[in-house]
Amino acid sequence: MMVAAAIPTTTRARRVLDIRGVVQGVGFRPYVYRVAVGLGLSGGVWNGAGGVTVDAEGDPVALDRFCAALRAAPPPARVDSVEESPSAPVLGQAAFAIRSSRDEGVASPRVAADLATCPECVAELFDPGDRRYLYPFIACAACGPRYTVIRESPYDRQRTTFDAFPPCASCGDEYDDPASRRFHAQAISCDECGPRLRAEGAPAGGDPIAAAVLALRRGEIVGLMSLGGMHLACDARDAAAVARLRAAKGRADKPFAVMFESAFAIGEACSLDAASRAALEGRERPIVLVPRRGAGALAASVAPGLGEVGAFLPGTGLHHLLLRSFAAPLVMTSGNRTDEPVATSVEEARRRLGSICGVLLLHDREIVGRADDSVVRVTAGAPRLLRRAKGYAPGPFALGFAGPDVLAVGADLKNTLCVTRGTEAFLSPHVGDLEDLDAQMAWQETRARMERLFRTFPVAAAHDLHPGYHGTSIASRSGLPAIPVQHHHAHVASCLVENGFPGRVIGVAWDGTGYGPDGTVWGGEILGADLSGFTRLGRLRPVALAGGDAAVREGWRMAVAHLIDAGVDPARVAARGAASVARMIATGAATVPTSSMGRLFDAVASLCGVRQVSSYEGQAAQELEALVLDGDDPYPLPLDEHGALLEMDARPLVRAVVADVDGGVSPAVIASRFHAGIAAALVASCRAARERTGLQAVALTGGCFANRRLTELAATGLKADGFEVLLHARVPPGDGGIALGQAAVAAWRLAHVPGDSR
Ligand code: ZN
Ligand code: ZN
Ligand code: FE
Repeated sequence: MMVAAAIPTTTRARRVLDIRGVVQGVGFRPYVYRVAVGLGLSGGVWNGAGGVTVDAEGDPVALDRFCAALRAAPPPARVDSVEESPSAPVLGQAAFAIRSSRDEGVASPRVAADLATCPECVAELFDPGDRRYLYPFIACAACGPRYTVIRESPYDRQRTTFDAFPPCASCGDEYDDPASRRFHAQAISCDECGPRLRAEGAPAGGDPIAAAVLALRRGEIVGLMSLGGMHLACDARDAAAVARLRAAKGRADKPFAVMFESAFAIGEACSLDAASRAALEGRERPIVLVPRRGAGALAASVAPGLGEVGAFLPGTGLHHLLLRSFAAPLVMTSGNRTDEPVATSVEEARRRLGSICGVLLLHDREIVGRADDSVVRVTAGAPRLLRRAKGYAPGPFALGFAGPDVLAVGADLKNTLCVTRGTEAFLSPHVGDLEDLDAQMAWQETRARMERLFRTFPVAAAHDLHPGYHGTSIASRSGLPAIPVQHHHAHVASCLVENGFPGRVIGVAWDGTGYGPDGTVWGGEILGADLSGFTRLGRLRPVALAGGDAAVREGWRMAVAHLIDAGVDPARVAARGAASVARMIATGAATVPTSSMGRLFDAVASLCGVRQVSSYEGQAAQELEALVLDGDDPYPLPLDEHGALLEMDARPLVRAVVADVDGGVSPAVIASRFHAGIAAALVASCRAARERTGLQAVALTGGCFANRRLTELAATGLKADGFEVLLHARVPPGDGGIALGQAAVAAWRLAHVPGDSR
């Protein structure tokens, strides 16, 4: 490092810097160029596989200022590290230039996530004097598609699907002009040279947006090709249109997201706090779950039984044009049938959605990276991802150690997959549910794409311990040695990696279902865990899971099981089949013990009459949470010892619920007392686990921590008791985060366990 003051200002110096962070595809090189030219420096800047390299020479004081300015690059760029090559000799380079990418092929490449249309581009979109007035594919160096259009890294136009659209003279001039917002913008295009929008199902020659709006006004469903795949849209105020969309998608109750024209429009239908508003307006443009206000303008069937609605704002020129024109909220949901991956090609759109839609809004720019909308909820004061896809994927995450490259298959539900390279992990966007054949194909596609983009060559495939998982057979057919990772260990590991926590924690892993090494169904676990392994410290007292998958869908089966365990007559469960389930439990036929916390939610929702049968995963728990009021006494959930295991005993809780139901206490009060009870039991369990192990930090992970009320009560209680609390934010707490944990555990094992070369 040179000391500027000690060197005469006439001396020239040279500095060669390797810059890591979010620096490709975000207007970083043009920024570097402008700063360098402003300081009178010579040299150049280029994209490498691992980031951006800057070679600058000139006055040493100017170079110092230059380096400070690089570190302070404006968003969406973000500089994580600047590494300087030692003692570079002065070359006497010519004027500063942006050079074409060099690929040194050493470090992992970076792939930026897609960015929502920036305010400057939106202003141009609606400016009749601008040459991109009403142009749906408007973008600049600071916004537009990235992950969804890149074929190969590094990110340059010729390696994206914009290679099919050679820029016209005007676009070329902007690309070359350092004063332009589109200086070196790879996705630059205009009406003359860019992709074309067209409306299928409408008279030829008309305005495609106008045709779509007309169809929407008639109550029809419109399919539109968005950034990372097809969307299906309909009028969110029109209950009949929403019902048709539900029938077409095969989706009974699962909530639909709603796109609004502006934050102001969202504020009319929902209550918006500052954190939710900031998340909504962020460049990632996620769906944000916000409380609905009164009956409001939206059809109730948009999110039946829930107090919140998934709201989001336009993220592309096409969305802005459609919403401005329609001037009312639109249901905007992934273009697929439930649990299938979202359709991305024109052929797929026609085949799968053509019969559903009045009009299909299509374009001719290929989508090579599938990406659904991400879903965020503000919990404990911060935005936290429930579904991680567009705007966030693919990463990277720092593993905290260097390991061999691995592939992690992920969980069967809400699947994402993960690849590692050296010290980093890259988590794919949401793929779908692997039971679905199309989702399995999308998985294979995504794997190939991730390995190519990040140039990783996995030596092993990590997968869930469950022998019957689709992911397990995918791993065994991958041609790689397979490394099984227990489901809840993977949940805890993903929380450790995302928080950069190096040690061992008390991992509270609560979810619906995960295969335990003892062959039973786990889901209410307290683990002592780090990346090297885990021990089970505690659990929820097991009851019978009767009838496999049916017991997951039909919450009343869990009510029967918990009543029998608590010594209460199960005849109070009115569901048809309750008596035969009671017999199954008595004989043990087709039952398996489960310690699942998610299933306890189902049982309580059934007992207080909130929901007997769920049509989507987590429905009963979400409806129970939606009822919660402030400040009720917790139900008792005492902690026992079962051999070496701590055990939360749900029997007194179940008896208290029954007494409240019989006493005419409202479901809202029961839901509140239930949440308070399990949060208190969580804190008590962690206290006991700390006494046994000395561990001071707690990781809260698993699908149950999508629950805001539970998460906030638990985090507050733990902190008051002196614990350090690790929560998820950039990785979903549910099974969408499993792949990252699998990858970290497998890479750790291969890196640290001598002779373990499976
Ligand atoms: Zn822009
Ligand atoms: Zn053009
Ligand atoms: Fe799980």
